Amino acid sequence: MSHRILITSALPYVSGAKHLGNLVGSLLPADVHARFHRQIGSEVLFVCATDEHGTPTEIAAARAGLDPRSFCNREHDRQADVYRRFGLSFDHFGRSSAPSNHALTQHFYRRLDAAGLIDERAVPQICSPADDRYLPDRYVLGTCPHCGASDARGDQCDACGTLLDPVDLIAPRSALSGDTRLEVRESRHLFLRQSALVDRLNSWLDTRSGWPPFVASLARSWLTADLKDRCITRDLAWGVPVPRPGFEGKVFYVWFDAPIAYIAATQDWAAARGRDWREWWWGEAARGTSYVQFLGKDNVPFHAVSFPGTLLGSGEPWRTVDVIKGFHWLTHEGGKFSTSQGRGLSCEAALDALPADLWRWWLIANAPESADVDFRSVRFAADVNKDLADVFGNLVQRVTRFARSAFDGRVPAGGKPGEAERALALSVRQRVSTIRTHHEAREFRHAAAETRALWAAANAYVQAAAPWSLLRTDRPGAAVATRTALALIEVCATVAWSIIPNLATSAITAVGGEVSAGPPPWPDDVADQLLNERRAGVALASSFAPVAKLSVEASGFAGW
Ligand SMILES: [Zn+2]
Repeated sequence: MSHRILITSALPYVSGAKHLGNLVGSLLPADVHARFHRQIGSEVLFVCATDEHGTPTEIAAARAGLDPRSFCNREHDRQADVYRRFGLSFDHFGRSSAPSNHALTQHFYRRLDAAGLIDERAVPQICSPADDRYLPDRYVLGTCPHCGASDARGDQCDACGTLLDPVDLIAPRSALSGDTRLEVRESRHLFLRQSALVDRLNSWLDTRSGWPPFVASLARSWLTADLKDRCITRDLAWGVPVPRPGFEGKVFYVWFDAPIAYIAATQDWAAARGRDWREWWWGEAARGTSYVQFLGKDNVPFHAVSFPGTLLGSGEPWRTVDVIKGFHWLTHEGGKFSTSQGRGLSCEAALDALPADLWRWWLIANAPESADVDFRSVRFAADVNKDLADVFGNLVQRVTRFARSAFDGRVPAGGKPGEAERALALSVRQRVSTIRTHHEAREFRHAAAETRALWAAANAYVQAAAPWSLLRTDRPGAAVATRTALALIEVCATVAWSIIPNLATSAITAVGGEVSAGPPPWPDDVADQLLNERRAGVALASSFAPVAKLSVEASGFAGW
């Protein structure tokens, strides 16, 4: 029975280096979940895209001396490369600037307008005669009215963190030209009437289950009588044009078009493969498809309110999300990650320093699921040394080296499993089933903890069975213990593959397991795998490279 699951990760913004906090808050757990579901035989579609529109892109492109499209081309490719190096197994990594997303965004606008859910209103906007244009929030700089910092932006003062409106700034100036003769003029804008959707959204939320409690309560806290209508247009050139008379030169607000890119990315994926995107998104065709979104807590209002509001308000049978798996923040040595302020590790720097699996393991084992989690390099090194080098790596290294030397480089045959092996099979079956349950429930810390416990139990079995002691006196006994240990390592690696794909694949290869291009199937028949001579005689061709221990004093590590 194949179950179809759509998995999306929050769209990373195209400008700015991504850090480990971005990775653990959506992209990485989504990847682990996608990989796990492929292992258990689900039909998975894992899509993501760069979020490319909006003021920050326009500003960053101007600073880079590029037009927004060229800038986005460059940054999209750069991010796609980093995520590939991190092992993120997207089926499609698209772009919110794709033609499919432009068409779909305009389609949703027309449906919402026809349903009476769009209001046109006049909004005071700051205008620069010298620049001959309206200046959206970040295009206005000035003195913060709260702390007096001289370079506060129109949306926020970075010095004191206060959220601002451009008209709050003292002595405002244009970020483009420095023009100080700014004027306030009225500009026409479109509002999505979220206030008219509150009841429908609450009823919709009643039918959802399996959300982390903090996500559900965040969503409810927005769905009250105070829910404001959201302005969905901007006075910008870079974005999805608004198809409405009088709105020439305006585009949709980036937060209106970005989540629609989940659908557009699916359409692009399907078009390239001759598949029907409706199986994932539309009415009866998508029956039997479940949909899980992964995102950081700051994105909850857009995914639990605005985007479902767009889908439900359209009056069309769009598939809405079943479960939002939200995450708290990863902090860095006690402070907020901020690549602009040089705090915390960018994904690129992390990959330049260490293999992806070390990061993947620690971030998943410590995922900020129920509270913020602090990254400290000393703790990171201690954890990965213990889990990956001492427990998992050492187990694989020790057993495969012994098997190669004692049994002529092959999985040994002969001997009969005894009480110890039968007890082992029972307890491993129980642990594997528990790990599966945690993955199904998207409880990543629990899944990693139980995986670690399985590795420890495997070490304990090998220690107690001690095939190297049996070798001279009881060769069949040594063969059973070695064969069981090799099979056990394959189970240990297979259930960890979704988290540490490279290390797991090396281990599976080293114990004579079959490795294909696809995911290693979830071990459903552990007793058979451990007690029968399935792989007897198979050559142990490749050796397993030990997992190097990290030293926090080593250069390039202590300095973070
Ligand atoms: Zn301030």
